Amino acid sequence: MPLSPEQQADIDDQRAESHQTLRATVPGMEARLYRAHEVLDHGLVRVIDYMGDDAAITQAARVSYGRGTKSVQNDEGLIRYLMRHWHSTPFEMCEIKLHVKLPVFVARQWIRHRTANVNEYSARYSVLDREFYIPAPEHLAAQSSINNQGRGAVLEGDEAARVLETLKSDADRAYDHYESMLSQDGQQGLARELARMNLPANVYTQWYWKVDLHNLFHFLRLRADPHAQYEIRVYADVICEIVKDWVPLAYAAFEEYRLGGAQLSATAVAVVKRMIAGETVTQETSGLTKREWGELMGVVG
Ligand SMILES: Cc1cc2nc3c(=O)[nH]c(=O)nc-3n(C[C@H](O)[C@H](O)[C@H](O)COP(=O)(O)OP(=O)(O)OC[C@H]3O[C@@H](n4cnc5c(N)ncnc54)[C@H](O)[C@@H]3O)c2cc1C
Repeated sequence: MPLSPEQQADIDDQRAESHQTLRATVPGMEARLYRAHEVLDHGLVRVIDYMGDDAAITQAARVSYGRGTKSVQNDEGLIRYLMRHWHSTPFEMCEIKLHVKLPVFVARQWIRHRTANVNEYSARYSVLDREFYIPAPEHLAAQSSINNQGRGAVLEGDEAARVLETLKSDADRAYDHYESMLSQDGQQGLARELARMNLPANVYTQWYWKVDLHNLFHFLRLRADPHAQYEIRVYADVICEIVKDWVPLAYAAFEEYRLGGAQLSATAVAVVKRMIAGETVTQETSGLTKREWGELMGVVG
């Protein structure tokens, strides 16, 4: 469990308080609010706040005075239309604020998504905890021989044991040195902002991350995808579950048109039309590269 008893008590205290509001709330999100969803070995995702619901999207699209809801079917149809036609601004009317604890090498991928507001734990101000991501044995894999950006077979036996031991002992040694450099016992003690540079990229950091629903969907489309690295994908998967509870109609449209959908090039569309007309099209006659052909077959094959 990534939470200390004190942190859990803070969360319990916050959940014991409630406020009356005229704003829209979503029961599924109220149930999740502040609670830690565990990810990896020490990581977490918590919903700190959210604004809007499915109705906020249709309300904005219609620029209506009231809640804007005509009927659920109406709202569902409109949300699906907006998603299908990339009419994105109504989705920006909903926002979510998450507390995320994640290894630094995952944070480096995550921070590339620039359309969010971030405030990270300060390792200049505070001492980092002795918490390092050590992959579970089933995720300790060799370099893929077919994908330069991925992993292949799981390591086994002596090699797996040796790699795990190296990861653990390097993390421990780096943290021991971090602590000893900071220590003021009989020495001045190195500044926290400098001592941290000795820590490996699997040390955990934390941040508050606020993003609107449109940009969150963009993040999820890239990071909940099987091509994304496992260690960021597990965070995206947890957030998908949260979003499903928050805006179920918008999430269903996102699954339909983005996560489960596919985008075809003009040449690929022409190939599909030729196939439907009964022609036997091969990669050589398709006008597509081998890679594009493989991707198209992945969609229609
Ligand atoms: C599988 C995978 C592999 C990757 N590999 C690499 C890699 O090897 N090296 C690497 O450096 N990165 C890599 N990335 C990161 C990737 O290139 C993007 O930086 C990252 O996914 C963020 O996407 P984004 O810029 O669309 O998102 P955001 O920053 O959230 O932006 C969302 C959208 O806003 C618009 N936008 C935001 N800022 C600007 C701007 N300044 N100017 C114009 N438009 C803007 C764009 O339309 C953008 O798509 C990888 C990502 C994935 C998912």
